[in-house]
Amino acid sequence: MTIVDGNALAGDLVEVLGIDATSARLCCAGCGSTGLLALTRVHRTAMGSVARCRGCDTVLVTVVDTGAERWVGLPGARAVAAV
Ligand SMILES: [Zn+2]
Repeated sequence: MTIVDGNALAGDLVEVLGIDATSARLCCAGCGSTGLLALTRVHRTAMGSVARCRGCDTVLVTVVDTGAERWVGLPGARAVAAV
């Protein structure tokens, strides 16, 4: 497992969403803090990535690569805002 920042998700987000969403602000459902997706802590493995809140460790964003498809989830993001 590799730990990087949220900028590492740029390519995955462009592929799935059609935009680079790393400049979006996320509101954490765990602690209510807000911050740029680019500044989250991302754990990467061969299966995908998990972006966690730096304040409380809640999983904000998941990217799962099934081999045939790539899925993006926002399990711990209460809201998302464009910057
Ligand atoms: Zn949090």
